Amino acid sequence: MKFLDEYRQVDKVKILVDQIHSLKLPPITIMEVCGSQTHTILKFNLEELLLEKINLIHGPGCPVCVTPIEMIDKAILLSQQEDVIFTSYGDMLRIPGSGSSLLEARSNGADVRMIYSPLDAVKLAKENPDKKIIFFAIGFETTAPANAASVLAAKKLMLDNFFVLSSHVLIPPAVITLLNSELIRLNGLLAPGHVCTITGTIWCEDISSRYDLPITITGFEPVDILEGILLTAKQNLLNESKTLNQYKRVVTKGGNLKAQETINNVFEVCDRNWRGLGEIKNSGLRIRDEFSHFDVEKAFEINTVTSKEDERCIAGKILQGLKKPFDCKIFGNECTPTNPVGAPMVSSEGACAAYYNYRKIENEKV
Ligand code: SF4
Repeated sequence: MKFLDEYRQVDKVKILVDQIHSLKLPPITIMEVCGSQTHTILKFNLEELLLEKINLIHGPGCPVCVTPIEMIDKAILLSQQEDVIFTSYGDMLRIPGSGSSLLEARSNGADVRMIYSPLDAVKLAKENPDKKIIFFAIGFETTAPANAASVLAAKKLMLDNFFVLSSHVLIPPAVITLLNSELIRLNGLLAPGHVCTITGTIWCEDISSRYDLPITITGFEPVDILEGILLTAKQNLLNESKTLNQYKRVVTKGGNLKAQETINNVFEVCDRNWRGLGEIKNSGLRIRDEFSHFDVEKAFEINTVTSKEDERCIAGKILQGLKKPFDCKIFGNECTPTNPVGAPMVSSEGACAAYYNYRKIENEKV
């Protein structure tokens, strides 16, 4: 299948929905850990189409959302330092910290710039030798190779004014943390196709066998997701706990070895704090010692801050799959995409933004 449209065909969607409904199974709960999949589920109304058969819950699959508030506060403080040009992707600039956001810091005089690629930050460093360019690197395994490559590029250019604030996180330890929790019971998992494109499939296979959990590595279009759900549900029916690969057109067993090598050249695994999940051992990436002159944490003095989440925001529970955006009392009224109180309403991959964009009207009818 070569074209995207083939994965959105209404006929195929209908057939898959019918197949799922025809399975002689009690209702089961399946989690996805990918913000793009969450948005597809909401955009194409898959949650409603499978109602009473499959309970779809959304895990910590939005990299912007899982970045903890203290990291946002740290970014804001860094942006206010002298001679700094602070750069990151658009969503990160709008995430509320304890008191303000990076965009508000910009309104108050900080030089904060939106970029589309980490190499834009490297270019800025080359063009502004008298400034310190900080790049806020966030994301899962998917974005880590490009961010690592930016450090290698800066090294090649012998730049001494390019710095990275790394808040990278790794999906497998977060999934294991959720599975170890007593709070959540899953009958299956849709593993994120983009992460597995880099990592390969082995971590999923390990989790399937260790936790007796059916997993399907799944793509991002409606047909992908419905096939993923069907394969996962069928495993429940057959009492199987394997990892299946629905996204074979991209994901291989070993993953992208070149990308893995690039990540490992620049980053090493570290413990990391996640919004909603707390500190998870070996769940982050920090810059290796040999590249420490590019590491903000080593190159800058950063005052410690006491960060404080808005108590009304239940993002932490949403990211654990324990609540859905409609459970939040201020969803759609005090918290909207133009006036976001929490990260999941800002991010283009956030669950609250997905519910707001595609299901807000329905909620108003309830
Ligand atoms: S609707 Fe807003 S306040 Fe509520 S959980 Fe989502 S981001 Fe937080």
